[in-house]
Parts: sequence; structure tokens; C-alpha cells
Amino acid sequence: MTAVALGVPSVRGLPQGAPAHGPLVDTFGRVATDLRVSLTDLCNLRCTYCMPAEGLDWLPSDQKLSVDELVRLLRLAVTRLGVTSVRFTGGEPLVVPHLEQVIAATAALRPRPEITLTTNGVGLAGRAAALQQAGLDRINVSLDTVDPQRFAAITRRDRLDAVLAGLQAAKAAGLAPVKVNAVLDPVSGRDDAVALLRFCLAQGYQLRIIEQMPLDAGHSWRREDALTADEILAALRREFVLTAHPGPRGSAPAELWQVRDSDGALLGDVGVIASVSHAFCASCDRTRLTADGQVRNCLFARDETDLRDLLRSGADDDAVEAAWRAAMWSKAAGHGINDPGFVQPDRPMSAIGG
Ligand code: SAM
Ligand code: SF4
Repeated sequence: MTAVALGVPSVRGLPQGAPAHGPLVDTFGRVATDLRVSLTDLCNLRCTYCMPAEGLDWLPSDQKLSVDELVRLLRLAVTRLGVTSVRFTGGEPLVVPHLEQVIAATAALRPRPEITLTTNGVGLAGRAAALQQAGLDRINVSLDTVDPQRFAAITRRDRLDAVLAGLQAAKAAGLAPVKVNAVLDPVSGRDDAVALLRFCLAQGYQLRIIEQMPLDAGHSWRREDALTADEILAALRREFVLTAHPGPRGSAPAELWQVRDSDGALLGDVGVIASVSHAFCASCDRTRLTADGQVRNCLFARDETDLRDLLRSGADDDAVEAAWRAAMWSKAAGHGINDPGFVQPDRPMSAIGG
């Protein structure tokens, strides 16, 4: 079996100039309050736009943060760096046995951050209630189509029923609003978008459609293949009436639309995340931690800051805080996907945490 190498960039020298206190800020004045934590690079699906069929060179266990190391970094982020929301992701976070333990530890921090989870939903049916009890506030479940054959083709696994059961369980557990994340297939995506929106409106889930980004392990993303937000909206408009949502967008990546039927009755809303065609980097409020303890200041960053080795070398909280601040200080103005010299990061989405 061939596995695609998991590219892990080298750690760069830390830049000078980051403030020692106050919010987690970069040189453009953006403040990071939203922490994305990848708990593992492992996954039980093989979505074509994310992972190769044969999987990846998974991180060895001893390279991943232990629960104690992770909880120490979470405490530091919340109590010293001003992080107010924590999203656990992966890889697939539900394959991590200590997920509930980490959520409970995060919920015990003060000020208590909002705690959310992004999951493919496989295995969620049996865990949604326990996750809610541990302190999970909200959940995003990834689902790219409601057609069983297309689901199996996109994820390379026949698990649609498990995901649908997971969504139901999340709703029953009160993890509201349950959001559905969809990355559309270039060929069937227009039809899938319409069917997904009908499904989500009927079930009371909030659909968020994400433009496919160049973060696949095989580096085979091609701009001309990926559906743009405008193409997605055009497909939805053939079946629904969409009007701009009146609410403020803030730093939310999704542009929200109110959905009505042809009689003007309000059915719900839909969001489109135009990461590629209408980048929202100027309002980005994210900081990222990988399962092996690297801070990334952007999904598309080409450098990382190694907090794991710092922890393991006996560094005190002041030193770890300073390293995290320095990592964010040097955040680039934008992801650069649309620049002629754009280079895709070595790590695929599953090893960064989406
Ligand atoms: N396994 C979980 C899941 O699928 O929800 C969490 C990790 S996954 C990397 C997080 C999100 O990233 C998912 O919603 C997935 O659809 C999205 N994603 C993965 N690869 C992507 C890509 N190349 N472009 C855009 N979104 C992507
Ligand atoms: Fe796994 Fe999520 Fe990547 Fe799909 S998108 S392969 S579910 S990590």
C-alpha cells in the first residue's frame, strides 16, 4: 500500500514585535478569538477532495499531543490569549476516544469558551448525547450529498445512513442549530446542492456550502473544476428565491441568504462560504492548533510554530504564550490562492483541521 507522505513544514524562527499581553493580534490588527483544534489526522472516510483512497502516513501516537498537553494549551489560549470559542475537528474527531474528556475540560475553563465540533457524523448517533452532556454547544456535520451512490463515491465509504442517524441524534440532543457543511462535487454538485437544501430545510438543519479549496492531499485541485459560490447560488436560484440575509455578518465566513418558496414564504436560510472566489481573510479571527501541537496562523500557512516541543522541553506558560503570540503576529494578509505564485501548503486539510 502506498501512502502519500504527510508534509510537515519546518519551524521558522519566531518574529519579534508581538505584544506580550492583550488580545492575540497580527500586524494587520486582526484579533484571533476562534481556536480550531485538530484532535487527530486519522479519519474513517476518504473524501476525494481531502484524502487519497489509501490514506496517509498517519502521525505516530507519541507525536500527537497528550490530553494533558492539549488541555494545558487550551487553558493558556482561553485564560491568556483571549480565545472565546474552540472548535474541535480533525481528521475525524469522533475517532478520538478522549473527545468527551477534552470537551469537559474545555467547558471547565473560565471564562468558559463556546465549544463546537466539526465531524463527518459517522458514530455520532451513539455519542451525541454524551458530547452534549460533556459541554458541547453546537455541531457541524459534513454531508456533501443525500444520494447514497454519490455519497459512497465522494467519501469512498457506504456510510450515508450513519451520518443521517448522527444528524438526528445531534438534533435530539439539543445541539442546535445543527449545521450541515457541504463541499460540492464538480459534476453532480448543482443537483446535490438543491437536494441538500430541501433536506436541511425539512429537517431544520442549517446548510453551509463551502467552495472546494486547494487542500487535497494529492494536490490535484483545479480552479476550473471547482464550483464557485456564484455557480452554487445560481443552481439554488433555479428552485428557490434567495435574498440577502439582513443580519450582520461579522467575522462569519458564510454569506447568508434567506430562502423562500415561489409564494414568498420564508423556508429558512443557507450560507455559502466563498473561501476562494470572495476571500474573507481581512476579517479572519482564527488561530489553529494541529494534533501534533503546531500553531498555524492560517489554513494556507507555509510555516508552523512547534508548541509541542516547547512543552516537552519544560517551557513555562510565559514562553509558550510568547511563542503562540509570535506565530500569530506574522500572519499574512491573505491566503494567496488567487496570486500567481500561490503554493499549496504541504499539509492536507485532514492534517491541519478544517
Ligand atoms: N472529518 C471532519 C469532517 O469532515 O467534518 C472534520 C475534518 S474536515 C477536514 C473539516 C471540513 O473541511 C469538512 O467540512 C470538509 O468537508 C472540509 N474540507 C475538507 N477538504 C476540503 C477542501 N479541499 N476544500 C474545502 N473544504 C474541505
Ligand atoms: Fe475525513 Fe473530513 Fe477529510 Fe472527509 S473531509 S476525508 S471526513 S477529514
